[in-house]
Amino acid sequence: MAPTPKQYDYIVIGGGSGGSGAARRASGWYGAKTLIIENGRSGGCCVNVGCVPKKMTWNMASINEALHAAKSYSYSVPLEDVKMDFRSFKKGRDASILRLNGAYERNWEREGIELIHGTAHFTSPHEIVVKLQDSGEEVAYTAPHICIATGSYPIVPDDVEGAEHAITSDGFFDIECLPQKIAVCGAGYIAVELAGVMNALGVEVHMFIRGETFLRNFDSMIQQTMTKRYEDVGVVIHKNHPGFAKVERIDDEKVHKESMAQGLGRETCCDGPCEGKKLRLTTKGPEGTAYEFDELLWAVGRAPEVKDLQVQNAGVEQTQKGYIKVDDFQNTTVEGVYALGDVTGQVQLTPVAIAAGRQLGNRLFGPPELKNSKLEYHNIPSVVFSHPEVGTVGLTELQAVEKFGKDNIKTYHSKFTAMYYDLFSPEEKAKNPTEYKLVCAGPEEKVVGLHILGLNTGEMLQGFGVAVKMGATKKDFDSCVAIHPTSAEELVTMK
Ligand SMILES: Cc1cc2nc3c(=O)[nH]c(=O)nc-3n(C[C@H](O)[C@H](O)[C@H](O)COP(=O)(O)OP(=O)(O)OC[C@H]3O[C@@H](n4cnc5c(N)ncnc54)[C@H](O)[C@@H]3O)c2cc1C
Repeated sequence: MAPTPKQYDYIVIGGGSGGSGAARRASGWYGAKTLIIENGRSGGCCVNVGCVPKKMTWNMASINEALHAAKSYSYSVPLEDVKMDFRSFKKGRDASILRLNGAYERNWEREGIELIHGTAHFTSPHEIVVKLQDSGEEVAYTAPHICIATGSYPIVPDDVEGAEHAITSDGFFDIECLPQKIAVCGAGYIAVELAGVMNALGVEVHMFIRGETFLRNFDSMIQQTMTKRYEDVGVVIHKNHPGFAKVERIDDEKVHKESMAQGLGRETCCDGPCEGKKLRLTTKGPEGTAYEFDELLWAVGRAPEVKDLQVQNAGVEQTQKGYIKVDDFQNTTVEGVYALGDVTGQVQLTPVAIAAGRQLGNRLFGPPELKNSKLEYHNIPSVVFSHPEVGTVGLTELQAVEKFGKDNIKTYHSKFTAMYYDLFSPEEKAKNPTEYKLVCAGPEEKVVGLHILGLNTGEMLQGFGVAVKMGATKKDFDSCVAIHPTSAEELVTMK
């Protein structure tokens, strides 16, 4: 006879942002007996291959930009001799992530959450079996409440021969030796961020996009200005590109691997004995143009991580693209089974997954007044860590016109050069725009969209996000006294 499954109040599958938020609220706040099952590294995508390593790399790239800016401020920075050791930076970044993995697990332990390393699948709506990572043994667990928070993974196109020779954002964080020339395929925020850091680190970057601009889900101002800005600073953008038919590895993979293992750097590896990794890419279509690059990065979207879950055993329904179907309260189609974060295809951001997890915890285990808790998915501020950063909250101008009608929308727009660039040469100044747009609706001019790009956008947006969330009007913005001299003051003085 099979042993009786171990019983919990709450089982959370996935120890990433959403899973951690869900478990900590349930156990840490409300004392529910909670189990997290994690088959990778604690902290999930954000900590290991997402926000955290991305922002650290962005910081590193920003320092390179600052070194160049220093010249305009009369520092004699010997730029030609400034050595950068990417391998050593990566070591530091990896160590920092390892500390975060530990911090996650210590927090769970402190809050009474049990953690099991293994891969979970459903056997029925309230029972899962976990294949334990250490022993390979399969153990059953049961709970009246089970939350799916298994995240998503980067897509590798299945219609491109040899697509596996390239990397995705996961592989990007394994790079030890910077390529000299990289191709980035994709136009979303991950493509723009990773292309931006590579360019700022001195790599020759080519972006291959299907349309005329990237960041297609963003306001037209952001699409246009940022695409032009990237071109101005040397990113080669191949617009209206048909995509690739074939990727071939044309270096000696074995020699390259050995060089990497020996810890050879760019000078001794990519320019020296091993010549580095080399790919030949051939475009789709009769012409079949061929390009050679040291690396190709697929940034063509993400898909829900459901392959091991066997959700059909629980009767949980999925959308056509495989995302777990949920209602406004993160309920799946099966009572007592919930889903949140990237696996649901809702807004795919870390704080969104965490907030959804906390609200679910409030609703399931909190006091009666929280029984209807749910996350509001509108007016969520977000930042793209491009160069410069982009920030957005609320509706694009196009969405606002569709929602309220053209006659009910008024926009305010400002484009200028931030004071930081005043000492730059006119040509350099022209490459560094700051641009803001407010989208206002109705006679009271409620701010329904705010779109900004320029220096320090990431730190600016959070406060404006609160204002927009509270329903601020243009008059409210104007009534706030400006802080001078800043770029942000432009947002409260727009005409
Ligand atoms: C390059 C990149 C940059 C990003 N930058 C940002 C940013 O700057 N800001 C931001 O807000 N968001 C950013 N994101 C998005 C953010 O990382 C995700 O939205 C967030 O991590 C989603 O959280 P989650 O809990 O849904 O999934 P995850 O955090 O990915 O957690 C899912 C976990 O489930 C585990 N798992 C999967 N299947 C099973 C199974 N069957 N059994 C047990 N465990 C399982 C996985 O190992 C994983 O640890 C970025 C993403 C990428 C790829």
